[in-house]
Amino acid sequence: MSGLLIVIAGPSGAGKGTIYNSLLERLPNTIASISATTRKPRGVEQDGVHYFFKTVSEFESMIERDELLEYADVFGNYYGTPKKFVMDSIQSGKNVILEIDVVGAAQIKRKFPSCIMMFIMPPSFEVLEKRLRGRATDSEESIVRRLSEAKRELSTYEMFDYIVFNDDLQQAISQAEAIICAERNKISRNESKIKQLLNE
Ligand code: ADP
Ligand code: 5GP
Repeated sequence: MSGLLIVIAGPSGAGKGTIYNSLLERLPNTIASISATTRKPRGVEQDGVHYFFKTVSEFESMIERDELLEYADVFGNYYGTPKKFVMDSIQSGKNVILEIDVVGAAQIKRKFPSCIMMFIMPPSFEVLEKRLRGRATDSEESIVRRLSEAKRELSTYEMFDYIVFNDDLQQAISQAEAIICAERNKISRNESKIKQLLNE
């Protein structure tokens, strides 16, 4: 049985990264995809761990060689998901979580209609601003830009299957986990196993 492809999107500062890390710890057989980006490393970020840091020409070569499952320009930098790792992992039965922007999410949905599309949203835009400022990783200019993008991202909600309101963090994590577990047990995802049992 092939693994699940789980897409987590939502405005910057919504808590995607926090929820994503927690899901990776809690869910068995579930792994992260490391994105390629032309953004410069921040703080303790390491190449090959947090991202594959690329120059613009290196990234454009990856596009030309069709090595990316999806890619987008996010806040003036390229970000993309390396294709081979995700395809090999899913085929070997592992679940893969992508934490990507809404433009990339739309590309994944088109290519993999059975992926699980989850949107993470804070309880309000006011809370979103507080979290972005509290995180203290972005410049004022970057915060203003991320906030002005947030509503546009929420307006793409119709392509998602689920929304998780990240007010209380533990509750949001439990909800995201419950969604993935329920998806795993869908009849449509288990038909080959059921047929095998019926033939025993
Ligand atoms: P994103 O990955 O969506 O940009 P982060 O996971 O980096 O967002 O979260 C943004 C900030 O908000 C971080 O400082 C994080 O610790 C904090 N945060 C996340 N979820 C909650 C929550 N439910 N309540 C309070 N703070 C939160
Ligand atoms: P950051 O610069 O804060 O690490 O990430 C900025 C945004 O880029 C986040 O909202 C994240 O979801 C998005 N992002 C990270 N990796 C990818 C990717 O591989 N593809 C796309 N389309 N977006 C990504």
